[in-house]
Amino acid sequence: MERYSGKSVVKGIAIGRIYLYKKTDYRVTDQKVSDCEAEKARFLAAVETAKEQLAALYREALEKVGEDHARIFEVHRMLLEDTAYLDAVQVLIRGGYNAVYATDRAGAQFADMFAGMDDEYMRGRAVDIRDISRRVIRVLSGLPEEGIRLEESAVLVADDLTPTETVKLDRSRILGFVTVKGTSSSHTAILARSMNLPALVGVKLPLEDELQGKPCVVDGFAGVFLVEPTKEELARMLVQKNQWTADLEALQRLKGKDNRTKSGKRIEILANIGDTADADAALAADAGGIGLFRSEFLYLGRDSFPTEEEQFASYRAVLEKMEGKRVVVRTMDIGADKKADYFHFEPEENPAMGYRGVRVCLDRVEIFITQLRALYRASSYGDLAVMFPMIISVDEVRRIRQITEMVRKDLEQEGTPVGKVMLGVMIETPAAALISDKLAREADFFSIGTNDLAQYTLAADRMNRRLEGICDPRHEAVLRLIEMTVKNAHEAGIHVGICGELASDMLLLERFLEWGVDELSVVPSDVLKLREAVRALP
Ligand code: PEP
Ligand code: MG
Repeated sequence: MERYSGKSVVKGIAIGRIYLYKKTDYRVTDQKVSDCEAEKARFLAAVETAKEQLAALYREALEKVGEDHARIFEVHRMLLEDTAYLDAVQVLIRGGYNAVYATDRAGAQFADMFAGMDDEYMRGRAVDIRDISRRVIRVLSGLPEEGIRLEESAVLVADDLTPTETVKLDRSRILGFVTVKGTSSSHTAILARSMNLPALVGVKLPLEDELQGKPCVVDGFAGVFLVEPTKEELARMLVQKNQWTADLEALQRLKGKDNRTKSGKRIEILANIGDTADADAALAADAGGIGLFRSEFLYLGRDSFPTEEEQFASYRAVLEKMEGKRVVVRTMDIGADKKADYFHFEPEENPAMGYRGVRVCLDRVEIFITQLRALYRASSYGDLAVMFPMIISVDEVRRIRQITEMVRKDLEQEGTPVGKVMLGVMIETPAAALISDKLAREADFFSIGTNDLAQYTLAADRMNRRLEGICDPRHEAVLRLIEMTVKNAHEAGIHVGICGELASDMLLLERFLEWGVDELSVVPSDVLKLREAVRALP
């Protein structure tokens, strides 16, 4: 048995087998071949195999995640029929180069050509060309399919997981997460929390191929990962797991009950979600609504912008599922650790303090307008509120209001019904907290994002594992900014909630109630725990 320790980001116990995810690394050499015809045939056969793989992936994705997500595999299959691309590879092969090298070179040239085009859509195809070239090379090299493809339930072990990789996951098959890198506020941790699966980050284990399929235990209570546990250890963990499951079941009795302290103080408890499926978890947990829908997840794990129709369908689905309960959608917070190639962001020295969130939206207004149109169209299907991330000034809020007004008028002129949409400001920069008195006069509500508020107040990158203890949202400076924001919101008569991870901090709950915080929005799995804690307070 091997025992590793790590930082627990979600409590709980998972027992199962390891699924080791490593990005495949293929070797490309410019070694020449003597039989060009045979090499050409090898290439064309690999293209056929790749096309078959894509057709199978399309069918599988269509069944599991629907046409929107499946379409990309059809696009890739069609690209593999593009004669210009196929010819370019074959020209290199005729020049004596091996098929892997020719595919890599021609693929890179084509991708660069697409990346340099004026048309946004065509630029986005560069990623696809790289993808199909990698696929053909994998076939030529006899390497397995890339990506996380779980055939059965397993504990996912990886170096780190990007948001892009995690949106493609078959969630129903994951038992828990273990990553070598990552921090408690990284998005993998947020995902694990939203799925309520035991998760450890910062586990220093060598990712050797032998790990694949080995039995393991993730102990999210003790922060321990066991590989090939002994019989005794396994029995001990099973007892703990059963106790944990029983505790979870006991919480179910709180469904339908009020979030009220013994002396009658009330607080709303809502849920944070990342996609439409999470809304089911929010409902199952009896959340009062959705306090934060991280809409940027609709933009990740794909090769082009989600269209207005696609977004409209997602927002409408969540609003309909929530049956009149409030749904707060945060406009896309792309940038920093959440990147999508098709945005073509320039590399930045310091992405967390760079081009992200509302800064991108106010600069590339066409992207913003598409999202706002989808949101406003969906607004007639429920109680929708929209909030904006990374605000630092009154001017930004005024510009946003001009754009939202324009979107509303356009839709009304088109004869599209639009509901009342409350517009909120996320308080997640020290600047926003410090001018919250002024912002409160411009906004309909506030939502405090403590994850970013902590990182910017404490000058400590939330993604940097070595700063875990330093990037502490309980730091007095952060708490003072929260208290100040709540006071300013109430003086202006607006509603204020907390939607960062600190919202589920049981030790601060009493203080939040004292300050008069109106709402806490937490991962669905924390809703009932928080209700229990509120009801236990005097
Ligand atoms: C936050 O910063 O606290 C927040 C809620 O937003 P995110 O974690 O998505 O940056
Ligand atoms: Mg944030």
